[in-house]
Amino acid sequence: MLISYLVIGIIPLLFYSFNLSQTLQNYFEDTNEKEVLYQANKIAGSIQKADYLTDKSKQEMFWNELSEKSIEENFRIIVVDANAVVAADTNNMAIGQIYMVPEILVALAGRDEANLRKDEEAIYASAYIEDDASHKIGAVLVISSFSEVYQLISELYRKWIFMTIVIGVIIIALVVFMSQVIFDPLKNILATIKKISSGQFHQRIELKGKNEFTELGEAVNTMTQRLEEVDKSRQEFVSNVSHELKTPLSSIKVLSEAMLLQDNIPEETYKEFLLDINSEVDRMTDIVNDLLALARLENNENSLHIREVDVNKMLRDIIKRLQPLAETKNIDISFEAAKEVKVDADEVKLSLAISNLVDNGIKYTPVDGKVKVSVDADNQDCFITVQDSGIGISEQEQSRIFDRFYRVDKTRDRETGGTGLGLAITHSIIMLHNGSVKIISGEGEGATFIVRMPLKLKQD
Ligand code: ADP
Repeated sequence: MLISYLVIGIIPLLFYSFNLSQTLQNYFEDTNEKEVLYQANKIAGSIQKADYLTDKSKQEMFWNELSEKSIEENFRIIVVDANAVVAADTNNMAIGQIYMVPEILVALAGRDEANLRKDEEAIYASAYIEDDASHKIGAVLVISSFSEVYQLISELYRKWIFMTIVIGVIIIALVVFMSQVIFDPLKNILATIKKISSGQFHQRIELKGKNEFTELGEAVNTMTQRLEEVDKSRQEFVSNVSHELKTPLSSIKVLSEAMLLQDNIPEETYKEFLLDINSEVDRMTDIVNDLLALARLENNENSLHIREVDVNKMLRDIIKRLQPLAETKNIDISFEAAKEVKVDADEVKLSLAISNLVDNGIKYTPVDGKVKVSVDADNQDCFITVQDSGIGISEQEQSRIFDRFYRVDKTRDRETGGTGLGLAITHSIIMLHNGSVKIISGEGEGATFIVRMPLKLKQD
């Protein structure tokens, strides 16, 4: 990460600064060479025109002029005759000597030239001087120091390098900062997720501050909590199933052992024992059947056979079927329809769901009570209400009665013969139909279950 950021950030910068300084240097070299050559030409032209080289009387004044110019422009100007003998030198050094540099030789040969001498950091520009007959009678050499430009460029270089270092430091600081602010929390979250996926559902991500990562952590924590709950309820379920099946099994064991150990048992006692065994087997069969029904509901979520169901007819059928049961307790079971209602539903399953509610209404209502089933609808939903005048359900139990095997009163329910799975089945079925179940009740106040279901089921 650090390296890639450094590469991405610094290499282009270095490349750019190198390129720019190179271009700048070329530009300066070029323009300076031209400028110095132009100056050399101008001086050569003046000398030629006024004949300063041969006419000694005018010379002095012009040489003075040249010195001034050389100081002004920071040039060294050397004038030589046809034999390369120095006639004037603004540095006053080479006068009378032969000064033979390549540029002078080239000029005396009839060609103007400008060269940059990198070792001396100077530009040498030369121009020839002619007489009227086009004979080369001398040459002008202008030497212009280039060190200032070099200094400028190296100064620029230094600044760029400084900038590069500063940017590098900023990038390093940024990466360190990011690794602490972004990568550390991410690593932390990842490590916890790994532990969670290996089955350690009690693990939680430590949340510090408030940012996107703590939000992510929160989401993971919520998910893990849910997983933990599911895992716990799975374990509970297994132990509940075992427990539920163990009770009838132990009864059967006791009854059968009693019969085996006793000799000469009267036939009636035998029958009595066998009847007991039979009812325990029935109980186990009920539990297993309900469990299978639940498992099917939970596994094949899309296996609803949806048809248009006449709800009023379905409810009347349910009541008819359960009427004999209600009669055993002298319970008045009634039906009230606000209108004819038809819903898209799996009739067999929906009928089972509502039967469970009506069955419970009868089971948990004392003798001479009332159970009322009613149906209504608005333009979206259908409402089926099962109301009883029974023992009711306290508020804190209401959230739990849909759990598998949950019973408010264990001992009584063994008498009523429930498996504790009826409401779980009802709930699953209503959920599959995208509906909901609401309970209105309180202890001793009777219970009302309101099932809401969409009239038209949009299946995905
Ligand atoms: P069960 O087979 O025991 O009836 P359910 O899942 O149908 O199991 O119901 C779970 C528990 O909810 C029951 O054991 C009972 O305690 C309570 N319950 C359900 N329906 C009613 C009701 N209409 N009135 C009072 N309590 C009820």
